[in-house]
Amino acid sequence: MSGIGGKNTRPELLIRGQLHRRGFRFRLHDAKLAGRPDIVLKKYQAVIFIHGCFWHRHECYLFKWPKTRPEFWKKKINANYQRDQKILDALDKSGWRVCIVWECAIKGAKKDIASVVDKLAGWLISSDRLLEIGE
Ligand SMILES: [Zn+2]
Repeated sequence: MSGIGGKNTRPELLIRGQLHRRGFRFRLHDAKLAGRPDIVLKKYQAVIFIHGCFWHRHECYLFKWPKTRPEFWKKKINANYQRDQKILDALDKSGWRVCIVWECAIKGAKKDIASVVDKLAGWLISSDRLLEIGE
């Protein structure tokens, strides 16, 4: 459900690689959990989603409503958004901590994946319920 050109996109691979190098162990795309999170760190009761800003309606520079078929897109994107809220709720209720890494935080060669992973690592060892990393 990443929405950035499907699974295993390059930034996602970089994030996984750096997490692993820092000693974090995880599972991928666990279908048993709501929303099939991209990265699941059971030891930390934490899941990470890497979300495309368009498909998940992130209000940032990457998000623009399409000019063609506006009704179709509104319905679709808003439905995605509603579904995401339900997924967050379901995960939270079953005790999972959730991090969303937005596409705008990791898109493009200039983005510093290491600083994103710093934030992730800090959050993983904290007790914060929710973390969002955007641009
Ligand atoms: Zn964004």
